[in-house]
Amino acid sequence: MATTHLNTLSSLKFDNNFVRSLPADPVSDNHRRQVLEACYSLVNPSPVAAPQLVAYSKEVADYLDISQQDCGSDLFIQVFAGNTQLEGMQPYAQCYGGHQFGHWAGQLGDGRAINLGEIVNHKGEHFTLQLKGSGETPYSRSADGLAVLRSSVREFLCSEAMFHLGVATTRALSLVTTGEKVWRDMFYDGRPQQEPGAIVCRVAPSFLRFGSYELFSARGDIDNLRKLVDFTITTEFPHLGEPSVDVYLHWFKEVCDRTADMIVDWMRVGFVHGVMNTDNMSILGLTIDYGPYGWLESYDPDWTPNTTDATGRRYRFGHQPQIAQWNLFQLANAIYPLIEQAKPLEAILNDYAASYQQKWQAMRAKKLGLKQYNDDDHDLNRDLQSVLLLTETDMTIFYRKLADISCEMTEQTDQQLLDTLHDAYYAPDALTHDDKQQICAWLRRYQQRVRQDKTSDHDRKQQMNSVNPKYVLRNYLAQLAIDKAEQNDFTMVNQLLALLHHPYDEQPEMEAFAAKRPDWARNRPGCSMLSCSS
Ligand code: AMP
Ligand code: MG
Repeated sequence: MATTHLNTLSSLKFDNNFVRSLPADPVSDNHRRQVLEACYSLVNPSPVAAPQLVAYSKEVADYLDISQQDCGSDLFIQVFAGNTQLEGMQPYAQCYGGHQFGHWAGQLGDGRAINLGEIVNHKGEHFTLQLKGSGETPYSRSADGLAVLRSSVREFLCSEAMFHLGVATTRALSLVTTGEKVWRDMFYDGRPQQEPGAIVCRVAPSFLRFGSYELFSARGDIDNLRKLVDFTITTEFPHLGEPSVDVYLHWFKEVCDRTADMIVDWMRVGFVHGVMNTDNMSILGLTIDYGPYGWLESYDPDWTPNTTDATGRRYRFGHQPQIAQWNLFQLANAIYPLIEQAKPLEAILNDYAASYQQKWQAMRAKKLGLKQYNDDDHDLNRDLQSVLLLTETDMTIFYRKLADISCEMTEQTDQQLLDTLHDAYYAPDALTHDDKQQICAWLRRYQQRVRQDKTSDHDRKQQMNSVNPKYVLRNYLAQLAIDKAEQNDFTMVNQLLALLHHPYDEQPEMEAFAAKRPDWARNRPGCSMLSCSS
């Protein structure tokens, strides 16, 4: 029935704490500019021609108290395409700055993200709803404020996939196409093409970034810096108590801890963010701004999917923990004027390195099915890295297969051991005699180490399979879903969404999606390399 049908959307409670509590840009028209002494500018999404629903996340709708029935409704599509506003919405774009590729870039801001408002659900939890690709804002600089379907599919699917992998992340409620075309020069080679436009509705308690604090600090606007930090603590870190110098330090420590947890999880599942600029670092320790990210297929700590970063490889897989610390250092500098003591900030930053190491070791022990990480396990881990680099070895498949190696049976031939791992190798026939010996020598050391723990094969496999996913959003899978979506066929987007709800489970009927990257995808754009153009 129509009336009850639309109820849940119409009865969302918009609290808009961010807008109510923080200084607004007094200028209300939508031209590009430097915005001083303000955290945001009010700006409406631009209407789009013919929005169509591609997919939505059932659980995110649940968090927001939006009923299943309402999710497919016309009102839902119009609202999350930016064509209609619900009562209580107060759309705005955030003002922030950032360090991009190691250099201070000044004001950036939400150039193509528009926050519709902040709701409080029936449990009292707050969520900001943000449209990405909804048109120009005062922060659009030289760009159009739009997003294309391919990058929107990637953001929608990956944020949901990461959540189910147990990685802290912003969520995605919906993905719609706009019915409009967007010009993009995908490889910055002077050959722009028209692509279908799309909008993702992202959801998180807050979209504040390190760069939000850096910008006030860089401008010497300490009053507003303090307002923003106090607001952040009061609303997002209330357990820390009333803001004070001491609480600022505790807060910074917690941001460091959350960031370390997030990076450890990225390293666990083989995720490469691709653009860890400080404007893409969430103050809540959430993975945010899915751009040219990628998943390690063959294990390679030097790999980055981002063509814009191909020479320096600043944001390569193995460098992410150090980059996070560098970014935290920028945040420390930004909040220094509120604390005016370098020593405690330095101590917390140093502690990040030690605490990251500890968290990383605990993660490694779990990945290998060990009860805990002992000092001797350092060599075992280091040598595993060499073994993984002998020949192209699929990281995700390797750890699942490693769980199948029996450590209870003592009489296995080298061939039996290698057979178990066979699927993890991109070119198993290319393994030399020497390679095979090294792999087996490592496996036998590993078996011995597991035997010290006296863990049964069954229990170890269970433990390992709960942290080593069977299914990740392989770059080529996302691309196949995009190819279909661009032909108006959204079945694969929805199929991957369902698959990635249970990334640790064997799903025999979906086995094909666990396969390693096929050869056609090795050098295909979108599968092995991506640019920032999206
Ligand atoms: P990113 O590194 O992709 O997160 O983007 C860096 C900055 O560029 C942010 O301020 C974005 O809002 C802005 N930006 C990226 N793409 C666009 C676009 N198509 N239109 C306007 N601003 C954009
Ligand atoms: Mg960004």
